Amino acid sequence: MAVKEFEKPTLKDYTSIPSVEKDATSHLAPFKSKEEFQSSLGYPGELVDNWQEIALDKMGDLLKKYRSLRVYLDSCMQCGACTDKCHYYLGTKDPNNMPVGRQNLMRGVYRRYFTLPGKYLPKLVGAVDFTKEVLDEWYSYYHQCSQCRRCAVFCPIGIDTAEISMAAREIMDSVGVGQKYCNEIIGKVHKIGNNLGLPEPALANTLEGLEEDVKDEINIDVKFPLDVKDSDVLLITPSADFFAEPHVDGLIGYAKVFHQAGISWTLSSHASEAANFGMFIGSYDNMRKLALRIREAALELNVKRIIFGECGHAWRVAYSFLNTLAGPFDFLDSRYPVPQHICELTYDLMNRNVLKFDKSANDDMTLTYHDSCNVARASNMGDILGGQFSVPRDIIKATVNNFYDMEEESIKEKTYCCGGGGGLLTDDLIELRMKGALPRMEALKRVVDDHGVTHMAAICAICKSQFSKAFQYYGFELDQIISLHQLVGNALIMNKKEL
Ligand code: SF4
Ligand code: SF4
Repeated sequence: MAVKEFEKPTLKDYTSIPSVEKDATSHLAPFKSKEEFQSSLGYPGELVDNWQEIALDKMGDLLKKYRSLRVYLDSCMQCGACTDKCHYYLGTKDPNNMPVGRQNLMRGVYRRYFTLPGKYLPKLVGAVDFTKEVLDEWYSYYHQCSQCRRCAVFCPIGIDTAEISMAAREIMDSVGVGQKYCNEIIGKVHKIGNNLGLPEPALANTLEGLEEDVKDEINIDVKFPLDVKDSDVLLITPSADFFAEPHVDGLIGYAKVFHQAGISWTLSSHASEAANFGMFIGSYDNMRKLALRIREAALELNVKRIIFGECGHAWRVAYSFLNTLAGPFDFLDSRYPVPQHICELTYDLMNRNVLKFDKSANDDMTLTYHDSCNVARASNMGDILGGQFSVPRDIIKATVNNFYDMEEESIKEKTYCCGGGGGLLTDDLIELRMKGALPRMEALKRVVDDHGVTHMAAICAICKSQFSKAFQYYGFELDQIISLHQLVGNALIMNKKEL
């Protein structure tokens, strides 16, 4: 199916709150998953006949399993504080992209079947029958939420629309209505080990090519090891790091850090993916199955530590859930946190003077930094209060001379999503992605205009891919988005004696 042309939003000097346009993006929905991708994840291949009964059973299960879901559906005061906080509302003007509007799509069904007033006086309490039209609306608008949690920061009672969106996707999968992009990718990781379906020989070949490139560039034998048993560190990184731009420059940066610090490390062909799209579809079982590959690889390779590369939602899953999903990790070296982020490693090494930088190597750039949603609002770094904000910034400031933050309302816990998170980084949603990128692009434009910022660094594979596209769309250059560890790799003084 061809993606339709759409009107390009205008980049303004300041982000403004648009007037509502009902159904502005009701035509948007991602491609549906084919039977083969559904069944490989344990879901029906297509919409089942008794879908309503199964969907309501599933909803009942989730309401029992996740008390938070029931609390979120029961406690909204319809106060409106969240209405202008979603980048998709700001970019599309569709009221169903207001967080409360999105929640109400499920709340109406919840009230109809799971509350007494909704059963007997549905019209009075906004309860609705779960019809096929409502299911279609769910499919559209629960795939217009990147599960970024920005709305939850502003809700006075902390309602997390991302959790509602995850539950909705899980309910839809259970009746055979899954999203192609996410479910196909999850299937590839189950089968091969990474989102790209890159088999071991191709991965080995890519890594050898990187070794040659780095040798050509700096005349040092920086290794990119694969499946090397008894290494100290197992690096789990997004597969985009193996070849996409600017991701691969980040991977080169990590390799230089390991080399300079004298840390033995390896990648794994069995667990060659940090991303865990099981979270995006709200599936605990799939999320666990993906996480268990990491445990299996760590045991097989007999490593002492697990370190994650630059990937936002992967770090959320790792930081918040890895021990529950795949632990205990008592076979690892207890002196190190499980897991650890590559930024935490670099930060620690630079503070101990193991790494030294020549900032002038990055003098051709003036930097700003994009906080990725899942890092900013669902994780921490360095066991420091707000470390998820300060650790990446401290690394950037140690490696560049020119750095300017974007305005406070658009960074740290209030950061705007790139527009492509939560399983929406697919070209069938390009209109939504470009419109959703609007607030971030406007904040970027201001530091470009005011301070001459030339580049934006990020530590998320999805953000980097999304910005590569959005930058061209909004008149920036594709290569203005860079990996944080590219800055590290550029500035790192590589003076370690060759072994
Ligand atoms: S979680 Fe993010 S994308 Fe979803 S409704 Fe809230 S602000 Fe919008
Ligand atoms: S801010 Fe919270 S309580 Fe207010 S309308 Fe939004 S979700 Fe409901």
